[in-house]
Amino acid sequence: MIYLDNNATTILDKEAGKAMMECFYEIYGNPNSIHPMGLEAHKAMEESREKIADLLKADPREIYFTSSATESINWALRSATSFRGKRKRVITSAIEHKAVLNTLKDLQNSEGIEVILVEPDRHGVVSAKEFLKHVNEDTYLVSLMAVNNVTGAIQPYKEIGRYLQGKDIFYHIDAVQTIGKLPFTFEDFCTFASFSAHKFHGPKGVGILYVKRGTSLRPLLTGGGQERGMRSSTQNVPGIVGTAVAMENAIKELNNKTVEKLASLRDHIVKAVYDLDGVVNTPLEHSIPNTLNISIPGIKGETLVNALASKGICIGTSSACSSRGDSGQYVLKAMKVKEHVGESAVRISMSRFTTETEVEDFIKTLREITMLLKF
Ligand SMILES: *Cc1c(COP(=O)(O)O)cnc(C)c1O
Repeated sequence: MIYLDNNATTILDKEAGKAMMECFYEIYGNPNSIHPMGLEAHKAMEESREKIADLLKADPREIYFTSSATESINWALRSATSFRGKRKRVITSAIEHKAVLNTLKDLQNSEGIEVILVEPDRHGVVSAKEFLKHVNEDTYLVSLMAVNNVTGAIQPYKEIGRYLQGKDIFYHIDAVQTIGKLPFTFEDFCTFASFSAHKFHGPKGVGILYVKRGTSLRPLLTGGGQERGMRSSTQNVPGIVGTAVAMENAIKELNNKTVEKLASLRDHIVKAVYDLDGVVNTPLEHSIPNTLNISIPGIKGETLVNALASKGICIGTSSACSSRGDSGQYVLKAMKVKEHVGESAVRISMSRFTTETEVEDFIKTLREITMLLKF
């Protein structure tokens, strides 16, 4: 199998897996117990929290562990809404992950909030100026993804953060697609940020919510008072320990020629796509280097994904008709991509473990399939 769907999920980092096994079989105490085995688990967990805080230039007290980025996002948006007072307006983009869009839709129905969906330009990038035009007295929350998962396009989350700094507005960044892909630290510019371990070679089922110190936060789960009383339930210590190791390695490798390697592999694919009269939907100059969204007009995305799958190659689809997987068709629609291009869109997403041979094999197979299906 050749796996090129790393924006959906990634293989577990071996070192992270090893550290997790040690937790499962040796450091298995409840981190909230006061006996030596509890203390040992507590220490492992808190050291992981410190490591993550260090890597993100945050304070350990600003890091909360959850079960997924979807949970972190729900928590941040719902907590902010409970502290909104009389204000109603939330500003976000039309190309957010469904975790953001559907949570805001639910809040719209239950709380009567007003949701402004800012459209991206045709490259899939939101304009900071356009976005900030909507900020008014009634605005209590802004939510923006740092990087779009469907196209890889980088959004102006820093500019918007700088503008919002010092204002009484909650600012949530969906930072899921940043770790190991671009340098990301807080430098004080947001109140909330969400991360997911399984997107950076950590385990599935572990999310992080960063909450800037001093931010009003409503407890997500009430019970035994874990996570400083904000998210009760016994923590997933193996998952947390694995997450810290995976994050450290992902960030270390990012500084270690990973970007150059991925960019050069991506250039290879882009050339082949143009040779096949394909269209590149990813803004190459303004995106993370592992992601490439392309269309081969005349071949439906789902058809191409299935044809590649039959040759042992896994890539992502952006098809509207697929009930499974992260259907990203709405993102291409928001970019006003022509319909026949949009319905042909597929996503290739690499990781630092992707090899040149795998990419060569993929290109060769893509050529064969295109010839067969199109001509
Ligand atoms: C994957 C993803 C999520 C959801 O993460 P989970 O941990 O799987 O819930 C949210 N936002 C973006 C941008 C993603 O790519």
